[in-house]
Order: sequence, then C-alpha cells, then structure tokens
Amino acid sequence: MAIFTIDIGGTKCAVGVGDAGSITDLVSWPTEIGGPQHTLDKVTQQFNAFINNGHTFQAVGVCFGGPVNYATNTVYTSVHKAGWDEFNFGTWSNTQLGLPIAIDNDANIGALAEYHFGGYENPESLLYVTISTGIGAGLVINGSLLHGFRNSAGELGHIRITDEPLECQCGRLGCFERVCSGAWLERTHGRPAEVLLAEDAFLSTYAENLARGFADAVLLYNPEVIVIGGGISNAGPRLLERVRITLKKELGSWAHLMPRIEISTLGPSGVHLGAMELARGLL
Ligand SMILES: [Zn+2]
Repeated sequence: MAIFTIDIGGTKCAVGVGDAGSITDLVSWPTEIGGPQHTLDKVTQQFNAFINNGHTFQAVGVCFGGPVNYATNTVYTSVHKAGWDEFNFGTWSNTQLGLPIAIDNDANIGALAEYHFGGYENPESLLYVTISTGIGAGLVINGSLLHGFRNSAGELGHIRITDEPLECQCGRLGCFERVCSGAWLERTHGRPAEVLLAEDAFLSTYAENLARGFADAVLLYNPEVIVIGGGISNAGPRLLERVRITLKKELGSWAHLMPRIEISTLGPSGVHLGAMELARGLL
C-alpha cells in the first residue's frame, strides 16, 4: 500500500502516490487565490481519482508552505494565502480521506527528503536550506527532525547577518532573509534574482552574504551536509563553487567544521518524497 502525498505551496499545489521509495502520478495545479476550500476539494477529487485507478493508501503526508504544529496536525498561520490559520488537517483527513495524516513545513519536509533520498549515504546530520521568496531551514540528526519547543527550530532566515538597518518583514533588522531571499533581492535591486545572479560580481557578493548565514548554522549545528534548495539553487554550480570558498573563509579558524555543501537534485518530487517519509513514521 502507498502513501498519499500532498504539497500545498504559495504558488502551486500538488499530490502524488508515494510507494517503494519513489513518487508516481504527480499532479499539480496553481494555488488559487482565496480560502483553502478550493484546494482541499481538488485534493479530495484527486485522491478519489487515484483510488478509482486502483491505488490503495495507508496514510497521508502533507508538506505545507508555512508554520505548522506537527504534533496536532494544525496550521499556525499562513503567510502565502488567507484562510488556513488554525486549519486542522487531522480532522479533515479523518472525515474526507479516512486515513492517518502527518504534516510538516516545507523546509522540514525538504530536509527529510534530502536526508533519505539525496544520495548522501546516511549522514550523521543534514541541514536543508531553502532559498526562494523567503529562507527556511530544516535539520535532520540521525534520521530525526529537530522541531524545537514551538516547532520553529531552523528559522535561519531571521538570524542577523548585517548591522545595516535593513528592516525585514518580521520586524527585525538585518535578517539573513532580508539580505539573501529571492523576493528581497528583487525588491532591493530592481531585477529578478536569476538575472542578478547571472553577473559574476553580484554572485560573489551574494555568496559572501550567504556564507555569513551558513557559518552561524555550522557553528550552531555542525552539520555533516548542507543542501541548498529553492529557486536560488537554479544558479547551480557557479553559486555552489563560490559558497564553498566564501564559507570556508567565513569560518576562519573553524574551517575544520566545513560541511559538504550541495545543491538539491531531487526536483519536483522532492517534497513528496519527504512527505512520504514523514507519513511512513505513522505506520
Ligand atoms: Zn526577519
């Protein structure tokens, strides 16, 4: 029997069938403006279509693009669209799908996916950093996610990396996300991140800023592997090469803590692999 995987993001939603370590039948659609009802109807409709096609499911795994309480299967708040605050996926799954469900945020799900399917040969610890509109991070240590007391471990996007008084959306000054996220790059420099990062000089400065954020994470967690995901990772090997150099420099006398750094290669099925792994924990 398989796992029904659901990804609810700011720009797109998708469902899939997770079985035997891979994802099949991936179906995606743009996230609609408005409340969650349209999205949930579409998810239920697709679930029934999978059942009609002969799939059988044991559990459901959900990747949600915002803060969630994984212990109660509830959304804390959603920054990308209205109507999801306090939404309880557990109750919904009981009545609509009749299956046990597990939910986590996209950074944690991404970290689980990389840890189990990224090809890093069972690392002691892996930090996944997703850099797109914002910056989020998830840490897996010996196979387990670090959630923190309020499910907010890994809010790497809001550590301070500069003394410049740049105000972040969260109200703090000089946040990593304020300096390095895709949305802020475009807002600050007037051009999309992919255009900016195509210039070598810009890329070098950007890699130095990234290294400041990563260095704090390395000193806090000492991860064996750091994987970069999200839209910024499209800058590819050029970015990776610069970050490896700048992080080592930034770490200074702590350079022996230098982790392996890679760019995610899991593609669109990545979060579904993570959601599958999360739900397997219920069985
Ligand atoms: Zn912030």
